[in-house]
Amino acid sequence: MDFKPEKYKIKDESLQPYIDVSEIDEILNTTVTTTENLERIIQKSLNKNRLSLQDVAVLVNATEPAHINKIKNAARIIKEEVYGNRIVLFAPLYVGNYCASNCSYCGFRASNKESKRTTLSHSELIKSVEALEENGQKRLILVYGEHEKKYNAAFIAETVRTVYQVKKGKGSIRRVNINAAPMDIEGFKMIKEAEIGTYQIFQETYHPEAYKKYHLSGKKANYNERLIALDKAMEAGIDDVGIGALFGLYDWRFEILGLLRHVNHLEACYNVGPHTISFPRLQKASGVKFDEEYLVKDEDFVKIVAILRLAVPYTGMILTAREPIKIRKEVLQYGCSQIDAGTKIEMGSYAKEENKNQDLDNEQFLIQDDRSLGDVIDELLEDDYMPSFCTACYRLGRTGEHFMEFSVPGFIKNYCSPNAMLTLAEYIMDYAKPETAKKGWQVIERDIKKLDPKISKKVKKRISQIKEGKRDLYF
Ligand code: SAM
Ligand code: SF4
Repeated sequence: MDFKPEKYKIKDESLQPYIDVSEIDEILNTTVTTTENLERIIQKSLNKNRLSLQDVAVLVNATEPAHINKIKNAARIIKEEVYGNRIVLFAPLYVGNYCASNCSYCGFRASNKESKRTTLSHSELIKSVEALEENGQKRLILVYGEHEKKYNAAFIAETVRTVYQVKKGKGSIRRVNINAAPMDIEGFKMIKEAEIGTYQIFQETYHPEAYKKYHLSGKKANYNERLIALDKAMEAGIDDVGIGALFGLYDWRFEILGLLRHVNHLEACYNVGPHTISFPRLQKASGVKFDEEYLVKDEDFVKIVAILRLAVPYTGMILTAREPIKIRKEVLQYGCSQIDAGTKIEMGSYAKEENKNQDLDNEQFLIQDDRSLGDVIDELLEDDYMPSFCTACYRLGRTGEHFMEFSVPGFIKNYCSPNAMLTLAEYIMDYAKPETAKKGWQVIERDIKKLDPKISKKVKKRISQIKEGKRDLYF
């Protein structure tokens, strides 16, 4: 990768804000897309080079259908080359929905008196995790409202430890990511000690004025503090972080450049970019009225995914059940590497038997894909994807700087694909319905042949061990 840091009006310094609205506006307003510069930039990306803000503006400003198709086709190629057909699966687990902040788009906002507030008790947390394990989940993201007193670092660390300890049948949660309000450096050190996976938070909007409009009170109302929250995590030694923007709050073109500026800031200051990027679209929430102006249309959403794939070929991209099945299916091909499945976001709902309709007052927002993990896996296999529950890198210390070094095609072939097969084999043995199992073995058999013969021999051996009852084998 021959990425040289760009020169910005605001120099990157750790713990200092880095967004200059006039700079991003100027780039967006002065960049004209032509077939020539579009093709040059797409080629740069296909050569696995990181794109500059100016380059990305050329993609963002593309409107001609022929240009959009070129972007989508290139994104498909990059996705295939860098990630192969793997899709990593996880589930969100909402631990508590008390919130002292007021984000006007969120059902959990402090001013929403309709919201039923609760925090999972120790035993409810255990029951939820048991239920998730019984479905075959291996990777969770724990989600918390912003409430300094209720959900401080010590509480979060404790819940993470509890989750790792729960073992139901052959199940275990091998990676616990978190999405929780920023804390101070000491707090981040505390959650790092609990061995969190990725620490994820979203800037929501990188535009300060828009940010002010939506974040009415509470700690989260401070734009700059939010902007440097991941700097604090890095200072505390958490080198595995996830960024994101909530699309629908402001012009999506601005948000894409904001996300990229954030990536560059982290790389400039800490030598490591974010592990993942999320791009949630605003969904209906209790008592929330949308300002229609910036809502992102489906066709633009597809463009967003493809452009992000080209902009940062080596960063994981997370797509959630906020999106309907049809859109999920479509954008998977353009670059998403992780999706949630079997998602329930009502507090405590994993441990409940009944599958009732969604209740807006009990949830943060509405999800649109509520299929079970088994059904999602079934469809992924049907579409020739390889579902993966792999957690090897994190457990072998291959994160942060190392993770970036290793995220190259050879590595994917030798490690990620074999590990995906091993975790799928475990899922098949322990949880799959017979018809899913049949499809799963077929996909494994087909993909094993694409591996280097030496590796494929090792994978076959481990799959026989899994069939004999061994678990948690990885490269
Ligand atoms: N409270 C913490 C925070 O705000 O960072 C962490 C959890 S918050 C519940 C997780 C994310 O949900 C937010 O960062 C926001 O992007 C997203 N969110 C909130 N309201 C939403 C809505 N109506 N539609 C889609 N996503 C929403
Ligand atoms: Fe609270 Fe987070 Fe929702 Fe904002 S997005 S109201 S901080 S839970």
